[in-house]
Amino acid sequence: MTISTDLDAILADIRACRACLGQLPHTPRPVVHVFPETRLLICGQAPGRRVHESGLPFTDPSGDRLRDWLGIDATAFYGDRRIGVAAQAFCFPGTNPKGGDYPPPRRCAELWRPRLLAQLRKVELTLLVGGHAQAWALGERRKASMTATVAAWAEYAPEILPLPHPSWRNTAWLKRHPWFEAEVLPYLRGRVTAILAS
Ligand code: SF4
Repeated sequence: MTISTDLDAILADIRACRACLGQLPHTPRPVVHVFPETRLLICGQAPGRRVHESGLPFTDPSGDRLRDWLGIDATAFYGDRRIGVAAQAFCFPGTNPKGGDYPPPRRCAELWRPRLLAQLRKVELTLLVGGHAQAWALGERRKASMTATVAAWAEYAPEILPLPHPSWRNTAWLKRHPWFEAEVLPYLRGRVTAILAS
């Protein structure tokens, strides 16, 4: 088997991937949005139902909040090739009857992540959005909880910034932790502005 090494070939392989066929409640539809120019890489957990249907990342209320955090609109988010999105899993894992979505299947990151990230050579800042992305990327550098990891954001900067997931489910978390909007978001917006100005 020939292993593709350049970014276009890996993206084509990912988009054709059906490794989870039969294990998801739908046909896999990988969603990945990165470019050779990507300098800001957003790593979430997995597409939700709306993203599964649109084929574009963060086409949902979480995306609206994330774009507000970044200080950019949808035109820049989807149109500027310096911004890329590669979740821990590229396919919608399905809705858990107990609430929320199922977690991203680990096999996806094992199968694709090292090869994909190795081709994104211009990334200056990686946003680890939520606990799954933080667990994968930080390993033992992760703190005991997502909150503690985000609170220690300055330890990981300037290459990495851990964030909570922008889901409405975290609205109460945001209210309980006002330091996030007061300290982390100004830093994040400053970095995004600098990346898009360069
Ligand atoms: S979740 Fe990942 S491994 Fe599974 S089918 Fe989609 S792209 Fe392939």
